[in-house]
Amino acid sequence: MNLKGKVALVTGGSRGIGRAVSVRLAGAGAFVIVNFARNEEAARETLRLIGEAGGDGKIARFDVSDDRESTDAIAALIKEKGRIDILVNNAGESRDGLLVRMKDRDWDRVIDTNLKGAFHCCRAVAYTMMKQRGGRIVNVSSVVALSGNAGQANYSASKAGLVGLTKSLARELAPRAICVNAVAPGLIDTDMTSAMTEEQRETVLAGIPLSRLGTPDDVAGVVLFLASDEAGYITGQVIGVNGGLYM
Ligand code: NAP
Repeated sequence: MNLKGKVALVTGGSRGIGRAVSVRLAGAGAFVIVNFARNEEAARETLRLIGEAGGDGKIARFDVSDDRESTDAIAALIKEKGRIDILVNNAGESRDGLLVRMKDRDWDRVIDTNLKGAFHCCRAVAYTMMKQRGGRIVNVSSVVALSGNAGQANYSASKAGLVGLTKSLARELAPRAICVNAVAPGLIDTDMTSAMTEEQRETVLAGIPLSRLGTPDDVAGVVLFLASDEAGYITGQVIGVNGGLYM
């Protein structure tokens, strides 16, 4: 897949799935803007890996949940690069807890980052993509958007919200040849899932037909495809990347 001449923005590109996506897009020729919120050292490591893959990019700090900060940062990046072709809304966090103990601040934080953050970034790139008459938006949802998960009311609601956002924007932006899709990863081996106990992992593994956790690269390959010209007739879809955990 050839992304030469394209400019991509990957939110949360400093670690995990976002890092793998950044490296894959850059390896295919895109100039990749690696967004992060706090962890500059990790973002620099992503940039180093991009260089190792023969690609080019830069890092950009902004908090996607902050409307002004993300909108201004994206406007400045588009001005600098002159275009934006690919947006991957990957930045995300989880603050798990059972409903009766869930605090409003944990609900709000997860919705603000995972769902409202994606809305901010989509809105910030839409006008330029519309003028260009083309673009790709890939939202990183989750298997729990479709299956639900006890203890993740806030997280699964945010990820289900992303599915609605994806389908609505797919319809709204289709006349300008902008494709909007989502990937719904299952259990992927990253910092986000590292807090799981061995017992919890074993329980989930027992329900995965392919009998292994996913890797960030498993997800990145699908995002690369959705970002490419080859996926020009795919929009409004949610692609599961979950080893068969949910069918
Ligand atoms: P991760 O390793 O915890 O990385 C999270 C990334 O998001 C980091 O780059 C972090 O930046 C960034 N981030 C968090 N809050 C942000 C904010 N407000 N503004 C900008 N960036 C922010 O997570 P991951 O496992 O790779 O997950 C990536 C995405 O996949 C998330 O949306 C997650 O919900 C989704 N997902 C993950 C799994 C899984 O099993 N791992 C499954 C399904 C879906 P800093 O480095 O600066 O903190």
